[in-house]
Amino acid sequence: MLTQLRLLGAGMIRGSVIRSSRECANMGCACHGNRERRHPFIYLSRSKKDDQAGRQRNRIVYVRECELSEFEKAVRMYDELWRIVDELSELNIQAIKARHREQGARTRRRARGGDEGRGAAGLGGG
Ligand SMILES: [Zn+2]
Repeated sequence: MLTQLRLLGAGMIRGSVIRSSRECANMGCACHGNRERRHPFIYLSRSKKDDQAGRQRNRIVYVRECELSEFEKAVRMYDELWRIVDELSELNIQAIKARHREQGARTRRRARGGDEGRGAAGLGGG
C-alpha cells in the first residue's frame, strides 16, 4: 500500500478540471451574444493558500486539448490517494486500539496473578 501511495503521489494534482466557454476579444466574431458560438476552453482550478493572508485563493491553469487526458488522470489520482489515506487512517486507528487493548489485558492478568502488581491497576480502562 505504501508503494501505491508513492506512485500515486508522484503523479497527482489537487484541483478540478473545468470546461467552460467564453467570448473572445475580437468584437466582429460570431461568439459575441451567441452562447452556442462561444469558444470552449478547459482549465484546471485549484485553491491555494495565500501566504500573506492565509486565505484560500483560486489558481487557474489553462489546459490544452492534448494535455487534457493527463490532467484528468492526475486529478483522479488525487482522489484515489485520499481513498488510500482514509483506509490507512482506519487501519491505524484499529492498530492503536488493538495495542492498548492488549496492554490492558496483560496488566489485568498480571494484577490478578499477584506477581508484580505495582501500580498497574489504574491503567487500561479500554
Ligand atoms: Zn470569438
